[in-house]
Amino acid sequence: MVAGGMILATLTDVVTPILAGRLVDDVTRLPPHLLGAGATRSPEAFATRHDTLLMLGGLTLLGIVSLLGRRLAFISITHLTLRIMSGIARTAFARVQRFSTDWHANHFAGSTVRRLTRGMWAVDMLDDTLLLMLLPEMCVLAGTTVVLALRWPLMGLLLGLGSVGFAVLSALLTLNYVAPSARLANVWDTRMGAALADAITCNAVVKAFGAEGREDARLSRVLQRWSGRTTRMWLRGTDSGNLQNLCLVGLRILMVGSVLWLWWHGRAGAGDIAYVLTMVFLVQGYLRDIGQQISVVQRSVNEMEELVALYDEPAGVQDRPDARPIRITAGEIRFEQVGFHYTGQTLPLFRDLSIDIPAGSRVALVGPSGSGKTTATKLVQRLYDVTSGRILIDGQDIAGITQESLRAQIAIVPQEPLLFHRSLAENIAYARPDATLAEIEAAAALANASEFISRLPKGYATLVGERGVKLSGGERQRIAIARAFLAGSRILILDEATSSLDSESEALVQEAMQRLMVGRTVIVIAHRLSTVVALDRILVFSRGELVEDGPHHRLLTNEGGLYRRLFDRQALGLAAE
Ligand code: ADP
Repeated sequence: MVAGGMILATLTDVVTPILAGRLVDDVTRLPPHLLGAGATRSPEAFATRHDTLLMLGGLTLLGIVSLLGRRLAFISITHLTLRIMSGIARTAFARVQRFSTDWHANHFAGSTVRRLTRGMWAVDMLDDTLLLMLLPEMCVLAGTTVVLALRWPLMGLLLGLGSVGFAVLSALLTLNYVAPSARLANVWDTRMGAALADAITCNAVVKAFGAEGREDARLSRVLQRWSGRTTRMWLRGTDSGNLQNLCLVGLRILMVGSVLWLWWHGRAGAGDIAYVLTMVFLVQGYLRDIGQQISVVQRSVNEMEELVALYDEPAGVQDRPDARPIRITAGEIRFEQVGFHYTGQTLPLFRDLSIDIPAGSRVALVGPSGSGKTTATKLVQRLYDVTSGRILIDGQDIAGITQESLRAQIAIVPQEPLLFHRSLAENIAYARPDATLAEIEAAAALANASEFISRLPKGYATLVGERGVKLSGGERQRIAIARAFLAGSRILILDEATSSLDSESEALVQEAMQRLMVGRTVIVIAHRLSTVVALDRILVFSRGELVEDGPHHRLLTNEGGLYRRLFDRQALGLAAE
């Protein structure tokens, strides 16, 4: 459709100079004294005038066809482009979402967003240029060359070779001279996006330290590098454009010179000269456009490169082809001789870790910072694959089940809960999007959250700000607890907040957590003594090893044990950290 419309429109451009030439021929054939009221009405004058009218009609028709052809092409390309752009956004987003936690930790959200959107718009630029511009231009050039060659083979050859030579020159200049600088400029463009996003996301920290000026200066440094690279890209583009234009002037002089030479030798008339002049200007315009468009194509390809590179990144944890959804009915968790090694670390973290957590029991993970508590819970969620051994949930090896089904059936209350900038109701229902408002309210009540929500002017419809910044730490936590209530999972992972809450909020959170733990298998990454004491078992980690395992009172009797030492050191406050 797009191509058809554009080819139709451009064919009219090929034919237009022919009609223009014939019109001039008609006009010069009839000297003015044969026209006007008193002129003799010879049959020749009549026929010629008839022909001029015909040409005028022809030009009008060509104009209309060209208009309609372009309209058809533009309308079709709108749909095509948007389909492709949406497709790219969808697949790239799906991929990015499924990248590992590490990948996300290592990439700025801002720069990823910029990579995605820039890649999408590059598609728009690319297919506009290829289909609406380059394709028709090639058609005009080929058509014109053929028409010209039929009349004067040598000039046709000249134009053909000139056009091809010009296109090759443009492509070479763009690829070897402009593209490398464009690639570098893009890298800095992405960095600029990342720098902006980083500072804006951490605005609270910036404010807290009154560091706006420092951040301004930091951005200025990035902008300086960015503008340096971009200047070079643009100047190289200008150089390349100037050189191309110089070649076009040469081609024009050659073409006009040739037709004048033909005229000297009596082989071309005024109409021919008019045709060649119209054609040369038209072709020159087209060639100049082709030069520019080749660089646009290159730029769009450059911009898409960063997006395409996303597809080369390792996707992280992969589901096996035969992976099935997991069914968690009881909630028993077993680590069997698990080995795990973070890429980038010299030593493995876990070597031969075996843990048995019966269904419905509540265990605390305790140990110094960096001892592997968080990693153990991440392995249960299969955010990483184990290097050796296996992890079983209700007897099913989690390496062979689908990640989505596993994570959907494990409820997490993280240390710093993240909320979407959506309504509170949606945030709570994230665990179960089909939950009714009554169920959401019930979950909020269990989480001790309903009171503060009802005090908000818009209640459950309140938008919570990016990542939930409009709520206090304790409130965010209670929302996360409400989410976990609604999820109704058999397995619960609680990462206790290290930041201290005010005592009232703390009491509400603790109470809600106790309520949440009932009837589930619970793993708590514990930082508070009060939590630890009440749990069934305490697993004490040290440098990736499970060094002690038992209930609080028994571990306390082990005089030289790590737990006893941690306990003594932090008896009044924290059990770890
Ligand atoms: P804990 O929760 O007990 O503080 P973690 O499980 O977070 O300990 O970390 C255990 C060890 O693994 C630490 O030495 C930490 O530096 C390392 N580690 C944690 N996350 C990563 C990661 N994504 N990549 C590489 N090493 C990591």
